[in-house]
Amino acid sequence: MDREKVLKIAEAIVNSKKTIVLTGAGISTESGIPDFRSPGGIWTRFDPALMDADILHQNPSYFYSKALPMLEFFKDINNARPSPAHLILADMEREGLISSVITQNIDSLHTKAGSKKVYEVHGNLKEAHCMSCGKKTDFNCLVEKVKAGNIPPECDSCGGILRPSVILFGDRLPECFASAVEEVKSCELLFIIGSSLEVAPVNSLPYLARSYIILNRARTSYDKGAYVVLNEKAGDGLKEIYSEVKNVVN
Ligand code: NAD
Repeated sequence: MDREKVLKIAEAIVNSKKTIVLTGAGISTESGIPDFRSPGGIWTRFDPALMDADILHQNPSYFYSKALPMLEFFKDINNARPSPAHLILADMEREGLISSVITQNIDSLHTKAGSKKVYEVHGNLKEAHCMSCGKKTDFNCLVEKVKAGNIPPECDSCGGILRPSVILFGDRLPECFASAVEEVKSCELLFIIGSSLEVAPVNSLPYLARSYIILNRARTSYDKGAYVVLNEKAGDGLKEIYSEVKNVVN
């Protein structure tokens, strides 16, 4: 590991009055959840077209006739446990080193790890809702309906069509995205972990930050604008950074 970069990141965190963390699928690969774009990632298992909101809206029967393997995979994600990286971020928030976490992940692992201020800007897999009346239901209930051949799955209240409460391509982001934008505008440092930064509009956030740091296994097209880039695994990198932060503080 590059000790100089680790020290530079640790000092930047200690000196920053407000640090926000932005995470992507890469922080959860160490919890056993594949990311999108790495070899063996989700793109190689499911047709990306199935993550398209237009298909769900225009042809829900077709969407659900194809979606069961993906929905069951989503259901499994709900059983994942936080990785050391998620736990370190929760500790860092408790100690006042970071203010909040903005995540593109739908796995709820930051809240499971104990992080309190989390913006789940792509939603999560706990719930489904009716596209007509908005009534919420348990995500597993949607999966069971599809499994039982109820295609498209219907709302028990109004007979409308149910959908998972996660953001698909083409969906509008939830209201919490506006708050996440304000968080980034008001921070001194954005610490990006495990994201290819290829998904819009989240990949506009680094441009709003005064300064940003990247911890990611692979290179990204945002590297050149970063204050520091550390190409390491999230868990390994965060462990070193956190221990260096403690050295700097003491
Ligand atoms: P991505 O797949 O585009 O990029 C992940 C990045 O993380 C890659 O650059 C990869 O090199 C890196 N990476 C993989 N394992 C790593 C590790 N152990 N440590 C450090 N870096 C690692 O994912 P993205 O940028 O988050 O964007 C894709 C979209 O995928 C998001 O919208 C998200 O909602 C969705 N997604 C979520 C999950 C989840 O909830 N866990 C999983 C897959 C995809």
